[in-house]
Amino acid sequence: MIETVTPAFDDRVQPPVADRYDAVVIGGGPAGSAAAATLAEAGKSVALLERQPAGRFHVGESLIPETYWSLKRLGLLDRLEEVGFVKKYSVQFVNEMGKESAPFYFDLDDAGRPNGKEGTQTWQVERGPFDRMLLERAEELGAVVRTDAHVLDVLWDGEPLDADGKPNADAKAAGVKVKFGRGDAAFTKEIQSEVLIDATGQTAFMGRRLGTMQADPHLKKGTLWSYWENAERSPDDPREDGCTVIIQGKEKKCWFWYIPLGDGITSVGCTGDMSHMFGPHRSSPAETYESEIAAAPGIAKRLENATRVRDVFTTKDFSYYSGVGAGNGWTLVGDAFGFIDPVYSSGVFLALDSGIRGGEAAVKALNAGDVSRETLGAWQPEYKKGVENFRKLVYAFYDDSFSIGGFLRDFPQYKMGIVDVLIGNVFRPELDEMFRHMPQSRRAATAA
Ligand SMILES: Cc1cc2nc3c(=O)[nH]c(=O)nc-3n(C[C@H](O)[C@H](O)[C@H](O)COP(=O)(O)OP(=O)(O)OC[C@H]3O[C@@H](n4cnc5c(N)ncnc54)[C@H](O)[C@@H]3O)c2cc1C
Repeated sequence: MIETVTPAFDDRVQPPVADRYDAVVIGGGPAGSAAAATLAEAGKSVALLERQPAGRFHVGESLIPETYWSLKRLGLLDRLEEVGFVKKYSVQFVNEMGKESAPFYFDLDDAGRPNGKEGTQTWQVERGPFDRMLLERAEELGAVVRTDAHVLDVLWDGEPLDADGKPNADAKAAGVKVKFGRGDAAFTKEIQSEVLIDATGQTAFMGRRLGTMQADPHLKKGTLWSYWENAERSPDDPREDGCTVIIQGKEKKCWFWYIPLGDGITSVGCTGDMSHMFGPHRSSPAETYESEIAAAPGIAKRLENATRVRDVFTTKDFSYYSGVGAGNGWTLVGDAFGFIDPVYSSGVFLALDSGIRGGEAAVKALNAGDVSRETLGAWQPEYKKGVENFRKLVYAFYDDSFSIGGFLRDFPQYKMGIVDVLIGNVFRPELDEMFRHMPQSRRAATAA
């Protein structure tokens, strides 16, 4: 399936583009589609500008349960069922010796009984068809969606940077300069907008131009990943088969994700410190990937009879955040606002959640005729608190002296608090108390 999700050409008919919109969204990943869908549903004119063909390949396949609420809000639950993505009911941890924890089932309570809650099952998704489904939903709700639109520049009323090179609060984002089409047929055009939403993912279009992006000093990580056939699976038991497994590598110097996808394909990624993954002692990414797998019993066993069916992909320097999340006429959503780390699969959840929050704030701002930083960014303080809760558990994960099992032995009363973070229920002030008992997590305060 992986091979077929990135078409060699864009098979969509590109709609005509007007000169002015209430809102322009840059980037057609989950955050951009969610923002555009929210604006269009509220009757605003919105253009969604994506530079890659619909169905493009992307890392980030494992969803967490709280994603359900955004997908429900966007009216996509039935469509997810129709596409038939692998269903995910649990997450499991395996230590560096290969010792397996019991899976955390999202639909069971503390005593192992069904908890009867809505939205406890989620999905493992091939991002090509998943992101395309979101784009198409935005279009269906009335957004003008172009997948041949490379945004080249932001148009400003006023100077975007002051004399010290800091974002100028008085300047207003007024639109974009875009290259449409590919090859000889390409042309550039300026589009005016009241609100500009940056959903460009790791490109972080606005943040990098305004100099507001900051690398997370505690997370200097890199990842190698690929796809396997005939990896160990449980095809006869869908509840077990859909489990994401997080497996520690040799001496906890790296960890693996093990994500079961459709058509018997399993995504396996290996993440570690940049110096460990890409240092001078390494000969090639493929060699690093294969040797780390061979050295970790928990993953080697699962891939014993498997064949790698894709190249080894590389990504690094992905942990950062923007110190400023909104300005006059503009706002950031999804990875363009910040990304923590792959370990708890929080990325798509946060992208959809922030896309909807950002879209709703833009609707309010447009209705009020006030597209100031305060109005467009009104949702961001609460959102950032939730993001910091993920970050605290990520810092703890990378601390050699910490393990979730050990923490729960000392503080069994926080089992549901840990489960809350694992499922994405992070916008709860009650979690503060749990994190006060996790010393490693105090570092996260510097990033908030
Ligand atoms: C190694 C790794 C593993 C991960 N694993 C998971 C996981 O298991 N589960 C999970 O939930 N998340 C995971 N993530 C995170 C997840 O991939 C992202 O958080 C998610 O894709 C963010 O969505 P987005 O819409 O913000 O950005 P994206 O999905 O990156 O979309 C941004 C879009 O903007 C477009 N764009 C950029 N610049 C321009 C421009 N100038 N003009 C027009 N278009 C532009 C790009 O083409 C792209 O399509 C992982 C991330 C990494 C690095």
